[in-house]
Amino acid sequence: MSVESIPLSSPDISEEDIAAVVAVLRTRHLSLGPQLPAFEKAMASYTGAKHAVAVSSGTSALHLCIRALGIGEGDEVITTPFSFVASANCMLFERAIPRFVDIEPRTFCIDPEQVERAITKKTKAILAVDVFGYLADWDALRAIAQKHGLALIEDSCEALGSVRKKRMAGTFGDCGTFAFYPNKQMTTGEGGMIVTDRDDIALQARMERNQGRDPGNGWLEHRTLGFNYRISDINCALGLSQMKRLPDFVKQRQQITEWYREELSPLAEHIAPAPNQEGVDISWFVYVAHMSPQHSEKDRDALLAHLRSSGIGCNNYFPPIHLQPLYKKQGCNKGDYPVTERIAERTVALPFSSHLSRAEVATVCRIVKDGILRL
Ligand SMILES: *Cc1c(COP(=O)(O)O)cnc(C)c1O
Repeated sequence: MSVESIPLSSPDISEEDIAAVVAVLRTRHLSLGPQLPAFEKAMASYTGAKHAVAVSSGTSALHLCIRALGIGEGDEVITTPFSFVASANCMLFERAIPRFVDIEPRTFCIDPEQVERAITKKTKAILAVDVFGYLADWDALRAIAQKHGLALIEDSCEALGSVRKKRMAGTFGDCGTFAFYPNKQMTTGEGGMIVTDRDDIALQARMERNQGRDPGNGWLEHRTLGFNYRISDINCALGLSQMKRLPDFVKQRQQITEWYREELSPLAEHIAPAPNQEGVDISWFVYVAHMSPQHSEKDRDALLAHLRSSGIGCNNYFPPIHLQPLYKKQGCNKGDYPVTERIAERTVALPFSSHLSRAEVATVCRIVKDGILRL
């Protein structure tokens, strides 16, 4: 059998992106230069948020949101176990406690009914994740947050560009976060962004990303404890250049999900294509197909192994956070969140990037079929 080589993800870098980065190198203004506010302005305008604050990663964006909302030791934050680990770790940084609740099987996002039941006197916030680009049920979450006086954080690190009723991902809570690692919809190499309409959150994030300096005051005046969570002008130039093609990336990724849907349809008995979400124009982060209930986790793992040995990048997005060794040590157990576990055992993330061709999608699906026939 021939061995293909199709990576799980791959950034879409143009000559124009490269020129934008090189141009910054020629200015010698490599950090805190003009690219930073230009990138932030473009992101605020794209999302419709009042403020955008660029930082070094999606994780640092989440950490600064937790701090800006005054969440600290012993406070509880209700969140989802079906996500990348950073969405819960950001609470541990401040000795706050992630309180996981299970997800809705239709959207893979946190289940609002279970959120309400998990609220205690110590609950300070809800942090929901727009996983894979699907949007959480923000209307329901906002109603719960308002009723109980809780803050609402949107981890939109996988959903930049998703839209519901003309409202962009990232703008549904008190603050939202994006990430620009090379496997995301757009990249800055490394980087992240906070978007918010709240002046206080934006100001505190601007201070804390830069060692606690007041943005208006002198370089050596440190008003509060801060970090070095700055993003360089080199990264910002790449981000600004990538943003010009972001709407195209989103469209291309939507097209590729349609190709996968067609190519996978003959295998429907064994593997379901990524479902669409009613009322949402999804900006897809990854392409996750779901093996049918007749298949076990072992079957899924065998299929992943077959794909890998054939040169097809793939992964089991996501192993639930509560089953990570770090969280098991803190008392989480298998069986705690059955919907998350049932879904996570059967996910198959297939190669996905904005420049994947129809022929490559067909190749991937042919090898998926081979793999299924061998089970
Ligand atoms: C990618 C991602 C992050 C973190 O982004 P980094 O830039 O890698 O720190 C946070 N949350 C979710 C859900 C993500 O997918």
